[in-house]
Amino acid sequence: MKSAQLLLAYQRLVEKERELRDEIERVESLLNVNPDVVAAEEALAAARAGEQAIQLRLMDSDRERETHRTRMRSREKELMSGRIRNPTELMQLSDEVKHMKASFAEEEDAQLRLMDEAEAADVAVREASERLDDARTRATSDEPTLRQNLESWQAELAIVQADSQAIWAQVPSPDQNAYLRVRVHPPVAEVDRNQCLACHVTVTSSGMQMLRKGDAIVQCENCGRILVMA
Ligand SMILES: [Zn+2]
Repeated sequence: MKSAQLLLAYQRLVEKERELRDEIERVESLLNVNPDVVAAEEALAAARAGEQAIQLRLMDSDRERETHRTRMRSREKELMSGRIRNPTELMQLSDEVKHMKASFAEEEDAQLRLMDEAEAADVAVREASERLDDARTRATSDEPTLRQNLESWQAELAIVQADSQAIWAQVPSPDQNAYLRVRVHPPVAEVDRNQCLACHVTVTSSGMQMLRKGDAIVQCENCGRILVMA
């Protein structure tokens, strides 16, 4: 094989190596922290926080209603006791009790709504917890396959690395240097119908002649890539 062809083969192996490394990294991080499990854990924590907040509000509302109920009863008792004779005072107290009853009824409605919310929050926690279990089960059942993939990719990576090193070693060092000096990526481009397939600029006729002879490294005059016949 000529240098340009070797360098193209080398470039392809380097690309393959990068893809494999990316895959290996992705699977390794998936095995460490499964994003589905993390998301389900976060959702469960949020549902629990919501449930707790409603429980606190329920307790507050219970306490408040108890205070209001006691006050209302004592005022009612006073009203019924016959101790108050003054009609104005009696009227005021009766109005007061009426208001208390009305607002107490409102509080009871609010309490019922809160209890509905608390029930919904319980359901949300239960569902989030089931989803977390599912995510964990899925992660566990995916694990053997992931580990298998990981092993086969690691084996493939070792082969690709050995191959690319072997090919690189066959390239004469001036040509290796030419490859390393190319500033654009990827450094090798194929030529088809007199065109550099990386930048689509036509290769000069002298360039094409040298390429056909195939002894020396020819670089694209536009992009600087090392050219190889497709
Ligand atoms: Zn080019």
